[in-house]
Amino acid sequence: MRPEKDMITEGERPMESPSERNMPKGPALQAAAQRHRVLVVEDESDLARVIRRHVEDIGCEVRVAATGEQALHGAAATDFDLVLLDVMLPGIDGVEVCRRLRARQQYMPVLMLTARSSEIDKVLGLETGADDYLTKPFSVRELLARIKAIFRRMDALAAPRDAPDRILEVAGCLRIDPARREVLMRGKSISLTQKEFDLLRHFAENPGRVYTRAQLLDAVWGYSHEGYEHAVNCHINRLRAKIEPRPSEPKLLLTAWGVGYKFTTEPLPQE
Ligand code: CA
Repeated sequence: MRPEKDMITEGERPMESPSERNMPKGPALQAAAQRHRVLVVEDESDLARVIRRHVEDIGCEVRVAATGEQALHGAAATDFDLVLLDVMLPGIDGVEVCRRLRARQQYMPVLMLTARSSEIDKVLGLETGADDYLTKPFSVRELLARIKAIFRRMDALAAPRDAPDRILEVAGCLRIDPARREVLMRGKSISLTQKEFDLLRHFAENPGRVYTRAQLLDAVWGYSHEGYEHAVNCHINRLRAKIEPRPSEPKLLLTAWGVGYKFTTEPLPQE
């Protein structure tokens, strides 16, 4: 068991630990930065301890926060590579914490931990912008698989590229720039979460091709898991709300009834 000094406690606490202060700066930081830094926000201390131990076992540096306030305080002081965020917290709840993290410039991936499936809609709600979620109770194996999937995506994004990604122009109205992670609808910028962007890009790379929810989970979320198709539906709805002129009558992201979804091959008619 680790000493309590790494626990975030009320009131005190710059997040920086003694070992962090001694971390090399400048070019030498790159090697040290290979260790992912994870903030675990969980008010049940036993669960926080278990999560911490397992996340440390895959080589991450872990901090624990027991309240939303502590989480925001910690995230302001340290750039975490991932925030594991419980929804039900005393004080500021996890949904609000996630929303506030999203309002900031620095992108921190957020994996939400929910106690009830009834919270999922809220977690995946329009403004929250969580990258992924797990419903309690979850297995350690599943937790670690999700964490690794997020790291893989983030590392792939951060990796230097030999050639910039191809800019996609689709439906005569959408311009998707993967290198800048920028989407323009008839010249107007659209703000998408990371997942929404990945989903849109995946569709736009293959207009007309039908994808099942399981295929989308696998391609965009990086894992396939029965029962999480709901996450795909939620993200499709959020994406439609942002890109479709009339989200209730989608013209771009089409439903292939009984199968899944596909991106249109037709140009979007001028309004
Ligand atoms: Ca809780």
